[in-house]
Amino acid sequence: LVQITAPRAGPPAWHWRAFGLVGVLATAVYALDLNDTVSSVCLGVAGIGTVWACFYGPRRQGAQPAGAWRLIGVVALLFLVGVLIRPIVTGLVMPLPLLADAITIPAYVLLCVFLVVMLRSRHSLDRHAVLDALIVWLAGALTSYLVLAEPAAAIDDRPAAMSIIAGVYPLCDIMVLLLVVNLTFTARTWPVSLISFFATLLLLGAGDTAYAIIGVQGHIYGSPLLNVPFVLGYTLMGVTALHPSVTELGRAARLPVQAWSARRVALLVPALAMPFVLLLVTGHTAAHRWIIAIDGMLIVTVLLIRAVSAVQAQVTAQRQAEHQALHDPLTGLPNRRSISAGIERLLQRLDGSADRRVWVFLLDLDGFKWVNDSWGHDTGDQVVIEAGRRLRAATPAEIPVARVGGDEFLLAYAGDKAGALLLAEGIRGCFGRPYRVREAEVPISASIGIAHADGDGGSAAVTAEALMRDADTAMYRAKGEGPGRSMIFDTTMHDQVRERIELEVALRQALADEQLYVAYQPIVHLADGVPRGAEALVRWVHAERGPIPPSVFIPIAEAAGLIGTLGTWVRRESLRQLGVWRTDGTVTDDFYLSINVSAQQFSEAEMPLVVAAELIEFGVPAPAVALEMTESVMVDGSSVTGRVLYELRELGVKLLIDDFGTGFSALGYLRRFPVTGVKIDRSFVTGLGASAEDEEIVKAVVAMSTAMGLSVIAEGVETRLQRDALAAVGVTNGQGWLWGPAVPAAEFAAHWHASGAAALVARAEPT
Ligand code: C2E
Ligand code: CA
Ligand code: CA
Repeated sequence: LVQITAPRAGPPAWHWRAFGLVGVLATAVYALDLNDTVSSVCLGVAGIGTVWACFYGPRRQGAQPAGAWRLIGVVALLFLVGVLIRPIVTGLVMPLPLLADAITIPAYVLLCVFLVVMLRSRHSLDRHAVLDALIVWLAGALTSYLVLAEPAAAIDDRPAAMSIIAGVYPLCDIMVLLLVVNLTFTARTWPVSLISFFATLLLLGAGDTAYAIIGVQGHIYGSPLLNVPFVLGYTLMGVTALHPSVTELGRAARLPVQAWSARRVALLVPALAMPFVLLLVTGHTAAHRWIIAIDGMLIVTVLLIRAVSAVQAQVTAQRQAEHQALHDPLTGLPNRRSISAGIERLLQRLDGSADRRVWVFLLDLDGFKWVNDSWGHDTGDQVVIEAGRRLRAATPAEIPVARVGGDEFLLAYAGDKAGALLLAEGIRGCFGRPYRVREAEVPISASIGIAHADGDGGSAAVTAEALMRDADTAMYRAKGEGPGRSMIFDTTMHDQVRERIELEVALRQALADEQLYVAYQPIVHLADGVPRGAEALVRWVHAERGPIPPSVFIPIAEAAGLIGTLGTWVRRESLRQLGVWRTDGTVTDDFYLSINVSAQQFSEAEMPLVVAAELIEFGVPAPAVALEMTESVMVDGSSVTGRVLYELRELGVKLLIDDFGTGFSALGYLRRFPVTGVKIDRSFVTGLGASAEDEEIVKAVVAMSTAMGLSVIAEGVETRLQRDALAAVGVTNGQGWLWGPAVPAAEFAAHWHASGAAALVARAEPT
């Protein structure tokens, strides 16, 4: 039952065993030649059984190529018909005896077709194996012609057509031989099916040779004994088709290319010797000597071609290995090792003159991780290939372009500064238009770091490695400036890198020692100047260097993977503070605290749960909390980010877009994500009252936000002029030095206590 239901189960194992046994028995009984009826039955059993097996076995087991295997069923059928009718038609008048051949010879042709198709799908039509087989075939054909075909045709007491046909069979066999030799030269394993198939073809050849030999003696049909190799070969063909390993025959199983092997020599040496032997045995007429000489020359020619091709293959393989060692497989461009050697050579050729330098350009594609994440690695690969192609096309051929990392390319150029700048321009230009992959338009841009060496005595120690490292440093700086920028390395960058590392170490320490504190800046109602909330802004006072602005250390924390810890600390500390203020009456119940959250924090799936727990811990209701994020959070965000935003919103916290207007200005995300408000960036507020354009922008933002039900807060309000302009276009809340900077908690409480804040404002700012 299991066998029946299992998908693509082959015939049970006893099928081929039983088939083989019955076939051998039938052959044995046939060989005894008891009487015509018994022989016919035996022939019928082996024959019909084989035709059935050839049609049934390969199909049942899914042997590939399916079409070729159907062909073998037809071949089996044709051979059977040929063998069955031969005794019947032989005695009849011409041309009826030829009927058997008219059926058998096409069977040979189909057999050859089958072999070619199968060898193809095994990847076995190896050039050398074909040439070797050709040598064997040339020797075999010569032998067959001189020893079998020519003498048979010379017999004159029967129709010439029959003699010629008799001579055709060995030629057919030799054709099959050619292909079988190819098979033996290239097979790696020898499963049962391959062995039995091989034996089938040998027996077929033996049978035909036997017929040809008696043909030379003037007979066309000798005795049933002559059919024994056919019957046995036939049985084995059935075994081939039924055995489970039949599926392996068409599978790629090619030996690694071999120049020589013992098996080849064993077949080639007799083949090469054959013309000489035939010269001794049959070379008694001039015609024979000519034929042998021509065939011998052909064999020598093929042998020569083969030798040349073997050497060529060797050279090609070596070249390929060398190419692989120095090239990137994806783009075909040189790899790091290769271009490093190239830069080294350029450096050696420097003569120390100031206007000739070696320039190294390191390019890193912008947003490549994003391409990979949103479109998949296939698209990522396509983008890399396209970038490499464009770079290669945009640079003169003598300038090497290499791929040195996932999305990094390197160019090396020797020349003056003007040339280098021109080259940089060309590189930037080639990334201008987006790249179309499948349905998507993927923008391609690269950040470029440039380093150079001028080869004067002082910098004799400059190495390719050092140049590449400097270019890398410059590239990171360029990346920090935004996509598509380039930066030339100078030695202060080393200092900056060092300083960055020092700050990173100090920041870790500061986090552990709680050297950070949170400052609070009021967010006020424009009309009455009373705080409706406050923004929590982190502060760090370095023990030696004094206060370090967050615009310096936040990016360091993000790059060093510290932002999670830092962000959590700021959030907990400010929520704790809000809880205290709410309890002691410093702030009213509707006062809210705005907390900055980095993109990385939004990609942590458990963040909403953590926030929910903190709200309970510090006794703060969700509506008293706003989280600020930049537009990039939504534009570059993963699917996790989207879910996190929805869960936070579900919790009840406000979600604000910080620095609104400076980023991508792709407004679609405002509708796609549950945002509650925007903070208009300081840069637009600064121009208010002076720049009509900024005023228009602010107006547009207010109109859009109102339409979408979003709150609007203006940042960086420093003057009354700005405040009034904002109020005039409908902005209700603002934040800025006009009301006060961010100050420590105690100072904030003292200054902005709910009971006195309004009065304080009224006194400080009479209107
Ligand atoms: P931001 O979120 O845009 O914060 C507003 C910045 O503008 C603050 O700078 C604030 O002190 C400053 N500012 C406020 N009013 C005025 C004004 O009237 N005029 C001018 N010129 N500036 C004003 P700060 O505190 O240096 O923070 C800089 C940036 O650092 C913040 O920009 C924010 O992106 C980031 N940041 C600060 N604290 C945190 C934090 O706890 N977590 C995260 N992830 N980022 C933070
Ligand atoms: Ca902010
Ligand atoms: Ca801001």
